[in-house]
Amino acid sequence: MSNDCIFCQIVSGDIPSRTVYEDDDIVAFLDANPLAPGHTLVIPKDHYETLGDLPDGEAEGVFGVLHALTPVVEDAVDADASNVAFNNGEAAGQEVPHVHGHVIPRFEDDGGKPIHAVAGPRPDLSDDELDDIADDIAAGAE
Ligand code: 5GP
Ligand code: ZN
Repeated sequence: MSNDCIFCQIVSGDIPSRTVYEDDDIVAFLDANPLAPGHTLVIPKDHYETLGDLPDGEAEGVFGVLHALTPVVEDAVDADASNVAFNNGEAAGQEVPHVHGHVIPRFEDDGGKPIHAVAGPRPDLSDDELDDIADDIAAGAE
């Protein structure tokens, strides 16, 4: 636990939350400043800052709960769809440094944007650059 982390304080019960799911390792609760009705956050109970910091077992728990909960959240608010995403690191907009997946319900004509809208302008990459990037990722994934 990190004493100055808001989400650790939610896990410990020091800060109240509208908890919608809990098991030994994971808790899910409504976002306090929702982007849509039903906006839900899924977190590991242990404090890790980013996805890369999460050990395998904990990652499976987080993604498993996201998988199970997403259709449940959509049904609860009668959503047409959802965006499921992580702001993974400060440069990507992560404000609370305790890894969390967002489930953001979406509705026809809600005026929102697809996830493609989160990054800056699209880079103009040559075939060689794309090949090098693909090689580096594939090597790291081995
Ligand atoms: P981030 O930008 O780090 O991906 O998102 C953090 C999210 O946590 C925001 O959507 C914000 O509304 C939510 N949040 C921040 N503080 C609290 C809190 O004390 N309780 C709850 N339930 N959500 C919070
Ligand atoms: Zn924390």
